[in-house]
Amino acid sequence: MIIIECWIENPVRSLDRTFTYLSHEEAQPGARVSVPFGNRERIGFVEKCYTVEMNQEQLEKKEGYSLKYVTKVIDHESLITDELHDLALWMRTQTLSTAISCFTCMLPGKVKPAGKVKHIVQERYVRLSDEEVSLTPKQLEAYMLVKQKGKMKYAELRQLYPNQASVLIQKNAVISYEEERKAEDRQYAPDSSPLPLTDLQQKAIDEIRSSNDEVYLLRGVTGSGKTEIYLQLAAEQLSKGKQVLILVPEIGLTPQMIQRVSSRFHKGLAIYHSGLNDQEKYEQYKMVKEGQASIVVGTRSAVFLPFQNLGLIVMDEEHDASYKQDSQPCYHTRDIAIYRGRYHHCKVILGSATPSLESYARGLKNVYHLIEMKERINRSMPSVTIVPMRDSISRGESFILSDVLKQKIQERLSRHEQVILLLNRRGYHSLLRCRSCGEVIACPHCDLAMSWHKDIHKLKCHTCGTEMMLPKVCPSCGSDKGFASFGFGTERLEQEVHESFPDACILRMDADTTSRKNSHAEILDSFGKGKADILLGTQMIAKGLDYPNVTLVGVINGDEGLARTDYRSCEMTFDLLMQAGGRSGRGSESGEAVYQVFDPNHYAVESAAHQDYEEFFRHEMQFRHAGQYPPYTYLIALTFTGTDRRKAENAALTVKNALYGNFKTIGPVSLLKIKDMCRERILLKGRNLDEMRNAVLEMEAAEKADLKGLRIDVNPMDMNG
Ligand code: ADP
Ligand code: ZN
Ligand code: ZN
Repeated sequence: MIIIECWIENPVRSLDRTFTYLSHEEAQPGARVSVPFGNRERIGFVEKCYTVEMNQEQLEKKEGYSLKYVTKVIDHESLITDELHDLALWMRTQTLSTAISCFTCMLPGKVKPAGKVKHIVQERYVRLSDEEVSLTPKQLEAYMLVKQKGKMKYAELRQLYPNQASVLIQKNAVISYEEERKAEDRQYAPDSSPLPLTDLQQKAIDEIRSSNDEVYLLRGVTGSGKTEIYLQLAAEQLSKGKQVLILVPEIGLTPQMIQRVSSRFHKGLAIYHSGLNDQEKYEQYKMVKEGQASIVVGTRSAVFLPFQNLGLIVMDEEHDASYKQDSQPCYHTRDIAIYRGRYHHCKVILGSATPSLESYARGLKNVYHLIEMKERINRSMPSVTIVPMRDSISRGESFILSDVLKQKIQERLSRHEQVILLLNRRGYHSLLRCRSCGEVIACPHCDLAMSWHKDIHKLKCHTCGTEMMLPKVCPSCGSDKGFASFGFGTERLEQEVHESFPDACILRMDADTTSRKNSHAEILDSFGKGKADILLGTQMIAKGLDYPNVTLVGVINGDEGLARTDYRSCEMTFDLLMQAGGRSGRGSESGEAVYQVFDPNHYAVESAAHQDYEEFFRHEMQFRHAGQYPPYTYLIALTFTGTDRRKAENAALTVKNALYGNFKTIGPVSLLKIKDMCRERILLKGRNLDEMRNAVLEMEAAEKADLKGLRIDVNPMDMNG
């Protein structure tokens, strides 16, 4: 008998194991099957397939339960490699997720072992048959073309021979058949050649080449030429016949990286990001699977593509939060990249101007090989002006564009240089500032801002759970003028910019203007070609963009994120300011940045003004140490979701009481309701992550509470998520 052991789609956590079926047909491990489960058909993902010398009766007797047959084998080849199989099971233990969720997140939508089997676009092809048939001269000509090509698309043949194509099929001279549509290997015209490296770049490359270390942290200030290093290291691996993966944070950044990569390497380029539809993603996945792709530029999920022989993995802007998946399995792309690098014996390069605190700390401890480039290619860092908004607002200036910023924009416009304006909207909706002094209301226990819960008219600390009513007077200045949120959107900013500079041509980039496919690339492209004077938008324009004609970057609400409600607020604010400043003055003209802030003396703002990462790192590590936050400790967030707040809270409390070990459990804390789902979170905080993971597993095994709505996030990055 053929036996198949498979994982079942969407199991509850307690059924995270394989199930045994009989089968009439063999199936590859890593293929999908359809199986009866409960009273439904479900998709299974094959773990093992083998034959035994027993009949059904003997087998059932041995197992102690009745066995069912697999209804259908869906895939006739494995969807994953052995490496990815092992990676999925490793990820399962690392992220405390179900195995099937790990397999599911690795595969493109069309072949995920979840939901219904989806249609994959097919194309019609023709090839010669074995039969000898008599043909007219014109038909023979068409026939010879097919013969010469071996196989060709039917549509192509019909276009060339409209009257003969179908006759050839009727006469059985050629056979028509269907095949999955394939991505065209776009041929790019390479129009850039490797640049002669600067001394700093050369030194960095030499150091990477001559070392046997696995993971490198390349900290290079914005504009220091990191990308050129990636490209030259990539070229080296490609010439050895190896594959290269370049990871980029989110789609905002992709167009420019794609352009830079494709201008250097003219074929075998696959591109993988969330802007593609399911079919397109599937086609790119196949390109990699079948070995036609030699270099891939992609966002988070590209880290799971089925490479056969990776020679290099680059993770650009390694600090970016979009590398962390926020649904189960909550993996971090960096961990996956390092795992794959080890498997393929290839180097992993983490690049950033502002590495995550965790990574830089590892770099200093030589866990990662740290390489630093502290100078720009053009040797001039942007000069930064801080505009304290409390002062300018009290002088009666606009709270959107200060006079200083307006004046500097005007200068750029008259010199025909370009301006980027970035509106920081992080956390803007949930925090209140004193109308008089501009101070935010902070938690008395945490030194973090409290968020305003409009629905219940209370302030809450998302870290410790403290709740309070809105104070009558400002805790900082004693004023009784009340509190307001200074939040506004990009449309409002655009309007203000337009009113101040009616002749300027403005491009806006935010979630609204980029919802259409390729609109991202189009906006960036036209800005790059100088078709607009001012590009304004949200965080998505802070990163990676390289436009030499931009000489001024203004950040509006620059430190809004500081007051955010989690321990990473300062880091995110600092990153944003640094990255934004990094867009300015990358060409021959030197650049300027203007940060409009409420708290000019905060160390995150001051260090950004000095463009000094190390200064920030020292301060921030002290803050992390004092509060015992990562990287001094590890966190695991357990979030209980449900429509009923009480139930979620009870589950959280029960679980809290069922967790034992040498760590703290904080909470439950109620998070903001999202789409009518109440969320209660408990946080484990300790120094031994394995012990914490085990405690969670033991709690699960004890089955004390209903864990259906439980989301587990090991090393969470977004504390409001
Ligand atoms: P980063 O990725 O560190 O922000 P980039 O790789 O984007 O820096 O480089 C900044 C700018 O300098 C780009 O316009 C790039 O084309 C240019 N550049 C990089 N390396 C060199 C070099 N060796 N010679 C001349 N220009 C360079
Ligand atoms: Zn005040
Ligand atoms: Zn607190």
